[in-house]
Amino acid sequence: MDSALRQALEDRRQQQLYRQRQVMHSAQQPQRRLGNEAVLSFCSNDYLGLAADSRVAAAMIEGARHYGVGSGASHLTAGHTDAHHQLELELAVFTGRQRALLFSSGYMANLGVMTALAGRRDAVFHDRLNHASLLDGALLSGARFRRYPHLDTASLERMLQTCQSQRRLVVTDGVFSMDGDQADLVALSALCQQHQAWLVVDDAHGFGVLGAKGGGSAAVSGLAADQLPVLIGTLGKAFGTAGAFVAGSDVLIETLIQFSRSYIYTTGLPPAVAEATRVSLALVQQEDWRRQHLQQLIQHFRQSCTAAGMSLLPSETPIQPLLIGCAGKAVRISEALLLQGVQVTAIRPPTVPAGSARLRVTLTATHTLEQVDRLVSNLKQVMESDDAAH
Ligand SMILES: *Cc1c(COP(=O)(O)O)cnc(C)c1O
Repeated sequence: MDSALRQALEDRRQQQLYRQRQVMHSAQQPQRRLGNEAVLSFCSNDYLGLAADSRVAAAMIEGARHYGVGSGASHLTAGHTDAHHQLELELAVFTGRQRALLFSSGYMANLGVMTALAGRRDAVFHDRLNHASLLDGALLSGARFRRYPHLDTASLERMLQTCQSQRRLVVTDGVFSMDGDQADLVALSALCQQHQAWLVVDDAHGFGVLGAKGGGSAAVSGLAADQLPVLIGTLGKAFGTAGAFVAGSDVLIETLIQFSRSYIYTTGLPPAVAEATRVSLALVQQEDWRRQHLQQLIQHFRQSCTAAGMSLLPSETPIQPLLIGCAGKAVRISEALLLQGVQVTAIRPPTVPAGSARLRVTLTATHTLEQVDRLVSNLKQVMESDDAAH
């Protein structure tokens, strides 16, 4: 077996696409330990800095004392506790939807939504840069599956006009995970209304970060619940814990409970994680300073990069990629930065399209302006010496 598998690994290595895990030795925060080295990290999706918050951690410890560690069964057998139930009620209020349903991860939520809502007679339309889990869910559903160019609602409209399928689903990230730009939900929802399509929005990177109280892309759009009927959020990013939720109508949630195999056939999230998330959900809404500071860091980073002659993608979110192009160069720069004690991940195909390898800088509310200055000055230096050497 190993000799049959080795060739594909070797090919990946040749293409500069081989991936390796870095073993971190400390909590999720800007100053981290990587082996024996201290690094200043800009790789985390913990946008509000809640993953290591002591109040969230204390809720998890208290939850473990009360409920133990594992939920012991799936939600539909005996694994659904009042911790899960309360969190679902609170997420429904937070999103302004009738109900919310917890999943064990965002990946599973997306598989569950796509397979429960679409089947062989249906058509699913995807933005080309949607998250892999949405694409995998669409493939698994067996629906006819088409991708439209990134953010191109005119192309989507042409596809919808010629579509004969019974159900049509339009599926999009709210904030695109590797680019940081945002879908035009107002335009998409108008198109969906016009062509009787259902709009599914995965706002993994919008919830907590965008909107006055962290209500995400949906809150910013100002659209009503029936115009955005299927909302997906993950809890492992701005909420700092783990898991995911789908929010929508009572009928949608009952449909997912009955038909989502990735909901039915898996062990429930540990109740202590639900308890921790209840606290982080309250903090997300109460601590506006986290969003305000984050916005200040984003503006500062963009202005400093522009002043230093580095070009950024058009993003107003904490995801601030520097487009490099060649995968080998992106890795070289990431490695050179790490030698200077700054950690920024190189993102390569197949996570992003061929020829669009990038450094994905992410900012969090626990970074300081001085740390952003250090990032920009190291970036500039490393990019200049790389240009000089190649
Ligand atoms: C991270 C992410 C997911 C997956 O969520 P997990 O809880 O990490 O499995 C889904 N969609 C998008 C857009 C994401 O960025």
